Amino acid sequence: MIHLLRRDSQTVWQQHELKNRLCHYREIYEKKRLPRYKLARLFHTPYKENLDREELLKIHEHYHPKFKEWIKTKQDLPLAEIEEEVFSKVKPETLKKENYLKLKLDILKDILSACEYCENKCKINRNEGLIGKCGLDNHAYVSSAFIHMGEESPIVPSGTIFFYGCTITCSFCQNFDISHEFDIERFRGRSTNAIDLAQTYYSLAKQHARNINFVGGEPTPNLHIILESFLETQVSLPMLWNSNMYLTDVSMKLIADIFDIWLPDMKYANNECANKYSKAPIYWDALKRNMKMIEERGSGEYIIRHLVMPNHTECCSIPILDWVAANLNNPLINIMAQYHPDYKILRGEFPEINRRPTTTEMFNVKNHADKLGIYWKSVS
Ligand code: SF4
Repeated sequence: MIHLLRRDSQTVWQQHELKNRLCHYREIYEKKRLPRYKLARLFHTPYKENLDREELLKIHEHYHPKFKEWIKTKQDLPLAEIEEEVFSKVKPETLKKENYLKLKLDILKDILSACEYCENKCKINRNEGLIGKCGLDNHAYVSSAFIHMGEESPIVPSGTIFFYGCTITCSFCQNFDISHEFDIERFRGRSTNAIDLAQTYYSLAKQHARNINFVGGEPTPNLHIILESFLETQVSLPMLWNSNMYLTDVSMKLIADIFDIWLPDMKYANNECANKYSKAPIYWDALKRNMKMIEERGSGEYIIRHLVMPNHTECCSIPILDWVAANLNNPLINIMAQYHPDYKILRGEFPEINRRPTTTEMFNVKNHADKLGIYWKSVS
């Protein structure tokens, strides 16, 4: 019934190109393939908890290629069959303490004491209640969780979870009430823990979600709680990372191989525009590195979101498309016309972006994507 609201969520799969690009994602929600997080917690990774962060990271890097190879042979097997094989070699109580997902979580918990989840690298101890540039302490605060019917057609119905807080400050933010202008003091005692999140996944799955979609604000500051929830849940849905991608190299390494599908934003094609409008001084460098990591270390299945901004087609839209065409293997791009002035722009900042993109600007960007042979129409 829910699919009738968005018939294109069914018909889009008739397109061969799109089907090829998102085939693993589709097989996971059709229950023909296991989500990566379930395999990560079945992958025996011997390590001692009291090692320091550098040593744990070395162990993680040692096991990453082994995990990558292992899941190729396991992802389409029944869970019970994999469990039988794994438990014939390692006791369940040992695996609970020494698995690949738990290793990632232990590293993330350690980083939290001098937080470097994102490129702001605040280095504050969030465990002591200190608050970073994202506006958050060590807890997660969920604004809403519901079945979202407005996402790209292969994604809907999407079990979307909106977190408070964000790691960059876009002057035109359309979600500024949950990203920036919230008072954390109001939420004290009303945080969402890992068990709460696991229950939310279950509830969204019961409502026929095709995926669990982590967004905000920005999900990055909540990495430790999201990964902890993966130790608690049983839902067999693809996990979707919907983000500005301003994560550090280490955070990206820790999550690249456990999310099944990605919705990365690509807004700017240089650090200057990113710093001016979003206070993200190394945005373009971080974004290029992290995009490549999705393909090299992760599932390689993603839909890029590019929001066309007024007066920024020459400096941002066109160079983004050029970079994508030259550097990524299987890009799918949503070229978005939804930009409208909001937040600080409506308060008088940056008058040069105080309008919608024109029809000519949109045409030029789409035309350039066509010239480069980039696949975009079915998801835009
Ligand atoms: S996640 Fe928050 S506290 Fe951590 S580095 Fe980023 S902005 Fe700072």
